[in-house]
Amino acid sequence: MALVNTDLCQHVKVGAYPFRLQLCLDEHLGLTDGLVTCRDCNKAYLLEMLDWRGDERLFRVSLPDAEEATQLVRDLTRGSCDISRACAEIHHMQTSIPASRYLIIIDQNFSLSGPTIVGIAPKPADRPLPTASWRELDCNGQWLDYARSYVAMLNG
Ligand SMILES: [Zn+2]
Repeated sequence: MALVNTDLCQHVKVGAYPFRLQLCLDEHLGLTDGLVTCRDCNKAYLLEMLDWRGDERLFRVSLPDAEEATQLVRDLTRGSCDISRACAEIHHMQTSIPASRYLIIIDQNFSLSGPTIVGIAPKPADRPLPTASWRELDCNGQWLDYARSYVAMLNG
């Protein structure tokens, strides 16, 4: 069954890594939360890590419009913006922009060619997705397994 992506652009697919980092909001041995754009079509995505195990990271995805994304990057990189205002802006963006219907699994691939998308799974309908930062979540691989089971179901 083909995955019809109405919210992710066509460049976001398994085996690729079209993201260019515009703004890192948090990191731990690589990106955990950040604003990225597609190298090919410039569509903006807010990625927030939900779970990880080894090199694999599961991200929830939000879809800011290009203008919102540009404005945020401009405000936060200008340096005149103080930290509390920056946090407020990021929080506003996280709570006001539409969420993608998909979760993305990225393999960080430290030893090889760099990060690669290894799975795109629809968000679970039967349990609510955590909205907290990864720093407040268990990150024990549970959500990763859950997303993987969806990917397996779609491909199998
Ligand atoms: Zn694209």
